[in-house]
Amino acid sequence: MPREPAADNYVGRFAPSPTGPLHFGSLLAAVASYLEARRHGGQWLLRIEDIDPPREQDGADEEILRILEAYQFEWDGPVIYQSRTEPAHRDAIRQLQDEGLAYRCGCSRKDLANAPRGPLGPIYPGTCREGSSAEEFAIRVRTHDEPIVIDDRLQGHYQQRLESESGDFIIERRDKLVAYQLAVVIDDVLQGVTDVVRGIDLLDSTPRQVHLQQILGLSTPSYAHIPVVEHDDGSKLSKLTGAPPIRAAEASETLCRALDALGQRPPSALETAPLAEIWQWSQENWSMSRLEGRRNIAMQHYC
Ligand code: GLU
Repeated sequence: MPREPAADNYVGRFAPSPTGPLHFGSLLAAVASYLEARRHGGQWLLRIEDIDPPREQDGADEEILRILEAYQFEWDGPVIYQSRTEPAHRDAIRQLQDEGLAYRCGCSRKDLANAPRGPLGPIYPGTCREGSSAEEFAIRVRTHDEPIVIDDRLQGHYQQRLESESGDFIIERRDKLVAYQLAVVIDDVLQGVTDVVRGIDLLDSTPRQVHLQQILGLSTPSYAHIPVVEHDDGSKLSKLTGAPPIRAAEASETLCRALDALGQRPPSALETAPLAEIWQWSQENWSMSRLEGRRNIAMQHYC
């Protein structure tokens, strides 16, 4: 059975990447993680995941904060910038290398063009497992083929055999940037996160994160992956698929639509109510179990 979060020390978080303004899908992750933390009397941290400058947009972090403030989210403690914990990311990478659990990989994308494809993309065939003298290299972590099992609070049992489904995966990129999979694991532990509530598009990353937790001797938080908003053709609502930024001007109405999309059925009168009233209703009525087993939300109803 999925683990119920501990009531006394719940720490949740919202961890947007500053690659663009928040859209309706990211608002759902913010609302669900926030209300679930509040329901448990827990803390809710805000972490800007700014470790991928080539994908980032100037000023996106400030814009995200401006919108979260306009919607009257209240986070605990100062905003955390992921780039500040980079030394801890590098220490973990070094530790894995020292222990022989990670290695340099000189393969380029072209080298892997003929690798078999799995559900997560090309399956790394282990070419550099025994060593590489390439000057340009990424660092990969060794995987095994024992199933890594997650009991997601919303999606239930989910498992992957990493070695055959993804192969050894990258924790430090060829451009020397730390990979998301590694950074998120280290930061969740450093910040004491007990409960991760985020979009289902990250469910298939979770076994890789759990693998890292296991080999680094770190604890595994509880996971709940909420449905993502999709276009009619099944593509995820994202900046790339033209999702409009959410606006401060229509905060009450948009927040009510977000609650509705999350299965909470807010009374229609709330749409014109002050935000404080909507948050109060939400905190009194929030039930994440209404999302159990749901994988997607059709966009036409909400955007
Ligand atoms: N930074 C990631 C994103 O914006 C989310 C990471 C997470 O919640 O684990 O998609």
